[in-house]
Amino acid sequence: MTAPVETFQFQAEAKQLLDIVIHSLYSQKDIFLRELISNASDALDRVRIEALTDPDVLQPDDTLEIRLDTDAAARTLSISDNGIGMSRAEVTENIGTIAKSGTRELVEQLRASKSGDAAAQLIGQFGVGFYSVFMVADRVTLVTRRAGDEKATHWSSTGDGTYAITEDSRFSRGTTVTLHLKAVDTEHGLADFAAPDVLRTLVKRYSDFVGYPIKMTAPRPDADTSAAPEEQVLNSMQPIWTRPPGDVKDEEFTEFYRHVAHDWAEPLDRLSLKAEGRLEYQALLFIPAQAPFDLYFRDQQFGLQLYVRRILIMDRCQNLLPPYLRFIKGIVDSADLPLNLSREMIQQDRHISQMQSWLSRKVLDHLKLLRDNDRDTYRKLWGEFGSVLKEGIAGEGDVKDKLLPLLLFQSSNDATALTTLDEYVVRMKSDQTKIYYLTGESRAVVEHSPHLEAFQAKGYEVLYLVDPVDELVTERVREFDGKSLTSVGKGTVELGSEDERKQAEADLSEQRERFATVLEFLQSTLTDWVKEARLSTRLTTSPVCLVGAEGDISPNLERLLRRTQGPDAVTQQKRILEINPTHAIAEKLQERFAANQDDPALVDYAHVLFGYALLAEGSELPDPGRFNKAIGELLVKGL
Ligand code: ADP
Ligand code: MG
Repeated sequence: MTAPVETFQFQAEAKQLLDIVIHSLYSQKDIFLRELISNASDALDRVRIEALTDPDVLQPDDTLEIRLDTDAAARTLSISDNGIGMSRAEVTENIGTIAKSGTRELVEQLRASKSGDAAAQLIGQFGVGFYSVFMVADRVTLVTRRAGDEKATHWSSTGDGTYAITEDSRFSRGTTVTLHLKAVDTEHGLADFAAPDVLRTLVKRYSDFVGYPIKMTAPRPDADTSAAPEEQVLNSMQPIWTRPPGDVKDEEFTEFYRHVAHDWAEPLDRLSLKAEGRLEYQALLFIPAQAPFDLYFRDQQFGLQLYVRRILIMDRCQNLLPPYLRFIKGIVDSADLPLNLSREMIQQDRHISQMQSWLSRKVLDHLKLLRDNDRDTYRKLWGEFGSVLKEGIAGEGDVKDKLLPLLLFQSSNDATALTTLDEYVVRMKSDQTKIYYLTGESRAVVEHSPHLEAFQAKGYEVLYLVDPVDELVTERVREFDGKSLTSVGKGTVELGSEDERKQAEADLSEQRERFATVLEFLQSTLTDWVKEARLSTRLTTSPVCLVGAEGDISPNLERLLRRTQGPDAVTQQKRILEINPTHAIAEKLQERFAANQDDPALVDYAHVLFGYALLAEGSELPDPGRFNKAIGELLVKGL
């Protein structure tokens, strides 16, 4: 009796990704071998890691290995491993579906972008390496048996949207993927993937560092064609970080990165580290060129691979780098840790925490070098991972001080270039004592804010903090280089020399008396939203603006908190309404008020001025109906 064959549809997103892999990524079809070997190597890692806690999984004389077998006549290529294997449910889960959250949105994005390169950049993030087999094969079968399972599973597909599953009689643990190869067509990147020479070259190029032997039985490359086939190991198996960095070619580092990071793109940068002291360990770290789409997902697991004396013991060790460096990929190889280290032990291990602080210090030093010597690369890194780095500012003092000089900001100094705080300080005017900033939703909104006027008049630079995390940065960071970080949207503004400030204060106290009653009127009319109305020293051309008191949270943060945590996340904060005493509106309003305090139009003016101030800073109107009514009344009167 033969087992029944069941046919299934690929999940919609999986099918779309599969189509993208087949139809738009035609540039390098031979990477399918890299992906299959990478999967085999991962499966071997997993069975070995499982054996650390469950010795029954492996027999002592088990050799973990990868095999390539070809049949030139049948035009097939098989890649086999005796790794962890998959249960039937796992096959459907891992091969037929993409379980990552956020996939649908990204698939849409991919389909919209016509460029194959852009697709290649993004697609690696999904774990769709397996689908690359359909670039070179018309039909693929996968036979697999999970370690410890009784039954094996046979999966096959032609990559057209369906796959068939049945039981299989495979006897041993592991997986074999067999490709029924498309006809050779070298012009379109289809080499003869059943030819030993071709496979030998590809393994050398893409998978030389793989830690398990990749075996093939074929005539030796230097033997004549009639020579008897013999078993050869195609890769050197030498861990790339154990070789002197100078001897390793860039392409080799790149291929290693692709393997550990499951990425298809090249890394942006890398660093090799070696600690020699009480603890001995090495690290090979990479900075990806692109942030993964799930970088901010809370349940996402990040972490470096942890090796002990060249043996992988944990795939994503979260304790080797702090969360604000979670975008870094790579490996750490320790000479001192025991092989049987559990996750629980790792969380408490003193070695690990010492490694973390050393590694993060080294990474930050490296980022500093990049910032100073290769601003282009640093700018790219910042664009992808700047927001993550800023999360570290919330950490302990030492980290904060190391991170601060690494931050880049937009500023009024330049329309496109970003600035560091050090560079800002160098540009400060001789009479300027503080570092000024304004937070907001976007540069476009912030840069037209009335709060900037007095600073522009003085020629003072203002940092535009338009990343949501910047609110956290300003909460945590009160000063830099002995200069206080000051919001231009909070408190009172006193600019210029001591004499200038004295003069301004004298002028103001005179005006205060004149405007006292109208200010009182504005405050009481707008009392639901405004806690004080006062004369402004920060406006030169605008009639009004709203500011916060020293300890208030910014309106930007208020908006953010409402959006992310719901409308009741923060109680509505009252603001301070500032009137520009040199503006004609202030003057006329005062005259009108003096003439008749009960003039009903005054209430409309108050609401319009308040709405004006809100719109100017990019805030929403709390009561748009009231604003519109006031505008309507005043228009009728004016026309
Ligand atoms: P990724 O390797 O990035 O997860 P792939 O498309 O290459 O994405 O593989 C999908 C999944 O299929 C893997 O995560 C793994 O769970 C499973 N898989 C693929 N090949 C093998 C194999 N040879 N042995 C065991 N599991 C495998
Ligand atoms: Mg893979």
